[in-house]
Amino acid sequence: MNSNHHLFRSLKTMKIKNLCFESIKAQCKERGLDPLNIPSYKKTLTKQELKIKQSQHAKLLKVVIHFFEKFMLSMQGVPVLTATTDEEGYVIQLLGDQAIKETITQLGIREGVQFTEEYNGISSVNLALKYNQPIEVIGSQHYHHVLHASACYSVPITDQIEGRTVGTITFMTAVDQGSPLLLTLLLTMKDSIERELQLLKQNEKLHIINQLIMDTTRNGMMISDRTGKVIGFNDSAERITGWKREKVLFHHIHELENFGSYLMNVLEEKRQYTDLETPFKREDGRVLTVLFDALPIFDEEQNLMGAFAQIRDITRRKKTEQLLLNAEKLAAVGQMAASVAHEIRNPLTTIRGFIQLVKGDFQKESHFDLILDEIDRINLIVSEFLILSKPNVVHFHDKNVTQILKETIALFQAQASMNNTQIAVDYENSDFIINCDENQLKQVFINLFKNSMEAMPYGGELTIRVRKKSEKEVVIQIMDKGEGMKLDQIQKLGTPFYTTKETGTGLGYMIIKRIIEQHKGTLNIESEVNKGTTVEIILPLIF
Ligand code: ADP
Ligand code: MG
Repeated sequence: MNSNHHLFRSLKTMKIKNLCFESIKAQCKERGLDPLNIPSYKKTLTKQELKIKQSQHAKLLKVVIHFFEKFMLSMQGVPVLTATTDEEGYVIQLLGDQAIKETITQLGIREGVQFTEEYNGISSVNLALKYNQPIEVIGSQHYHHVLHASACYSVPITDQIEGRTVGTITFMTAVDQGSPLLLTLLLTMKDSIERELQLLKQNEKLHIINQLIMDTTRNGMMISDRTGKVIGFNDSAERITGWKREKVLFHHIHELENFGSYLMNVLEEKRQYTDLETPFKREDGRVLTVLFDALPIFDEEQNLMGAFAQIRDITRRKKTEQLLLNAEKLAAVGQMAASVAHEIRNPLTTIRGFIQLVKGDFQKESHFDLILDEIDRINLIVSEFLILSKPNVVHFHDKNVTQILKETIALFQAQASMNNTQIAVDYENSDFIINCDENQLKQVFINLFKNSMEAMPYGGELTIRVRKKSEKEVVIQIMDKGEGMKLDQIQKLGTPFYTTKETGTGLGYMIIKRIIEQHKGTLNIESEVNKGTTVEIILPLIF
């Protein structure tokens, strides 16, 4: 309310209900209401009931006090009383000029009374509620004569979010002090009050949502202000870290073991961390694996407000994964046992035959070469088989990926031949050195070969190709001409236990993905139903 211009504009835009007071008065008379009486009230709340209503409208009342005080400054001494009512016309707050208050108290108007059309004839409160519009009732427009000395202005207050009326506010003054400006003032106040209520409600909602998230999530959450002081630390953070909230709150983040230095980077360099997997040693000695995310928080103007971090305890998941990894491996080993045994028996038969043959004739060297070859082959198969069935201890070394493939194929060959699958290889003539865990990669290849073989139940060709992808990468392609997959099938790959096979585990791809991820590689799958599938593994080269 700082310029006349503003007042003028508000006056022009407001709508006041054009009422015919004479006809309302006639209706009052018909109902037998005596204009010479002091108005009475249909109902007056007990102290207890009033308290309840006041607390239900606590926010409205607080906001009204705030704005009324502010607006009174621009009233330049005009004595005004303001009444706040709820949506049923109960007066729940009276503020302002003491003299007016005393006068109206004599007329029975005080906190707790209910304004009704039935008892009060013409009151701005009832009319504002009835028409949901700003209303003025000046002097003799009132039905009751005792009110002819007053000017009353009321506006309904609407909850803008829910779109319903929550009450009214009224200005009351002596009739000779009345002015249309008062109604304008009231309208401006209404706008401010509604806006403030809306903001409060939205903030409250946000706050509730925040609390809800903070309290119910299983993720540990930590929040710091811009200076690095911890201002939020939820239950799950307590549970995961074992730190007591009181011990952490209002301390500086650099005191937080493990996470402190990351959070400092977030604040100082505005860095972000996502899915950082890190071990966390609790004070009770337990070592957890946690996933850690952290990011800076900015306000609307992009000023740094603080840092947010969340931690997830994935120790269990890690353990399960490890178990599954082993289970799948054992399943693969088990399935291969039959064909491996067969493969071992074959050379043994050969050896046996030759030894029988050469029993009397130890001169034939070529026979010995054959025997030695076969023994070597047994050795290779058995040792590969043993490597594969060893428990998982991850060791990364620099290895030639083609060599790993060759060894894996040698191991797989037996099973392939039994299934009438021909393996064609196409290696680019170069050393592709990658940093890897050899056994894990072998597991990937075995799983992929098996899938291809199983996709060609009547046999077929399995092509394995190794190429340089770029200066930094090698690509391994495994191609079959099997039954192929539809897009939604491809998308499901890697979901544990997704299988279309009667004896499948549905774990193969989960393990493949996991291992390729650990090798910082990428997996591409292309497939067409009844045409075949090409799986591409891209791995970073060492140079
Ligand atoms: P499993 O082999 O135990 O079923 P996988 O995770 O290895 O589990 O594979 C999941 C599913 O994906 C298979 O059941 C199959 O339907 C499909 N699949 C995988 N590889 C191929 C392939 N090369 N050709 C066709 N379908 C495949
Ligand atoms: Mg499989």
